[in-house]
Amino acid sequence: MKLTVLGASPAVPNPGRACSSYLVESGEQRLVLDLGTGAFANLRCHAPYSEVSAIAISHMHADHFIDVVPYRYALKYGDERREGPLPLLLPPGGEGLLRAMVAAFAREGDAGDFLDESFAVRTYDPGRPQAVGSFEVRFALTRHFIPAYAMRISNGSRTLVFSADTAPAPEIAAFARGADVLLCEATLEPGCVECGERGHLTPAEAGAMARDAGVARLVLTHYRQHVAGELIRADAARAFAGDIVLAHDHLTLEV
Ligand SMILES: [Zn+2]
Ligand SMILES: [Zn+2]
Repeated sequence: MKLTVLGASPAVPNPGRACSSYLVESGEQRLVLDLGTGAFANLRCHAPYSEVSAIAISHMHADHFIDVVPYRYALKYGDERREGPLPLLLPPGGEGLLRAMVAAFAREGDAGDFLDESFAVRTYDPGRPQAVGSFEVRFALTRHFIPAYAMRISNGSRTLVFSADTAPAPEIAAFARGADVLLCEATLEPGCVECGERGHLTPAEAGAMARDAGVARLVLTHYRQHVAGELIRADAARAFAGDIVLAHDHLTLEV
């Protein structure tokens, strides 16, 4: 299984960088997790956009889904052609939000098919595993400002867990138990433990989650670039003794 980071920024994009998005590949299967601000342009560096198997969105914050709009323009007007609409898996409640938003872009006469011509829009049931080609995807509700879902992706031999956005949550550590890689948000600056209402992690808290999950490798993402990478890594290493990787756009690693 191969993981490519398409965007590692938090809600405010880092200079020249994209927001939350990850390409997971296994054989012919290509699953895109999230599609945040600027991520579609980065996807094009790594795969034909017409040959993505499915997109799964963790939650309906703009830094996790807004590039569904340029993706739609590509599928409708771009050079690549695909067989049938691209499956777009949304969290419960996401479809209504997305349809309300894109209604503002629709030209008169195409309001009904702005999405449906290009995407097979589906709402996933977080309580059920979802088959995406040869992947199995499981979901777990995180602790965030709106309902958000961590995802556990397995190809039968390797397992990746993506934290989505979350505050510290033992249930997410349990959900990630035994994964090969935990791709975990580290939005808050090291030492920032009292930052008002909590919906995110410090690097040390991400490290603690990796430790409690017993994963082999922690990939830190969704962090602010003005904090030195070595400080972020060192903060996580206070809690986690395993391999720590700092995500950046276009990073590819084997899971
Ligand atoms: Zn976010
Ligand atoms: Zn969020």
